[in-house]
Amino acid sequence: MTTQARRIQLQDNLNRTRQALAAACSDAGRDPRSVRLVVVTKTFPAADAAALVELGQADLGENRDQEAAPKAAELAAMGLEPVWHFVGRLQRNKVRSVAAYADWVHSVDRAPLADALDRALNDNALNGSALNDGAAPARGRTVNVLVQVSLDGDVARGGAPVNGVEALAEHIAAAPSLRLKGVMAVAPLGWEPAKAFALLAECSEAVRRIDSGAVEISAGMSGDFAAAVNAGATMVRLGRNVLGEREPMA
Ligand SMILES: *Cc1c(COP(=O)(O)O)cnc(C)c1O
Repeated sequence: MTTQARRIQLQDNLNRTRQALAAACSDAGRDPRSVRLVVVTKTFPAADAAALVELGQADLGENRDQEAAPKAAELAAMGLEPVWHFVGRLQRNKVRSVAAYADWVHSVDRAPLADALDRALNDNALNGSALNDGAAPARGRTVNVLVQVSLDGDVARGGAPVNGVEALAEHIAAAPSLRLKGVMAVAPLGWEPAKAFALLAECSEAVRRIDSGAVEISAGMSGDFAAAVNAGATMVRLGRNVLGEREPMA
């Protein structure tokens, strides 16, 4: 497909997706401005991500650092700096890389991972201040963090168990370079999305008792975002609706 044809297709898909999201908000009696659209560009080339930013889509998501880091660098080299959301399973040995480009990490699900991310941000700041020796210490970058919840307790697929959400949220709230912002989940396979997102809303309440500002609820993918919006999602993570079907992952 030519670049121009792809750009038109992305524009159409983006418009249609924004309209569908606005309709879901209206059905739920909510202001469309209360839900942030994160377009998940995983498996699609940097050129698609760049086209989306040029079309006014500010928030982009990725789920693997190996793919996200070079894509973020490619866009930055073009002068494009979207708000990057890291939404996938995260290993401790990747946090340093992720900390360099991600503004949001939706998938913090255990205390050692939170600590590693916090340390990586602190170290980046120290390295920065070493460059201007004697000047005011560089203000460390902070990252917005969501507690990923495993709604069905199958933690092998990512997420903290529901009964561990509060302790993890408290841990994140105490980390100097992390900003506790709320919760995230993927509806478990075979669950009614409404039931899954209602349980996530309860987790959100528990987290807001720790920090009243941690109001974000990241929920809803291409197949179930209307149910998520109905249950109070403030961020939806949509890939296929905007970019098209993905090639099966290797
Ligand atoms: C891929 C992915 C999405 C987007 O899924 P679609 O079905 O393409 O909308 C959302 N959240 C996470 C965590 C993902 O990995």
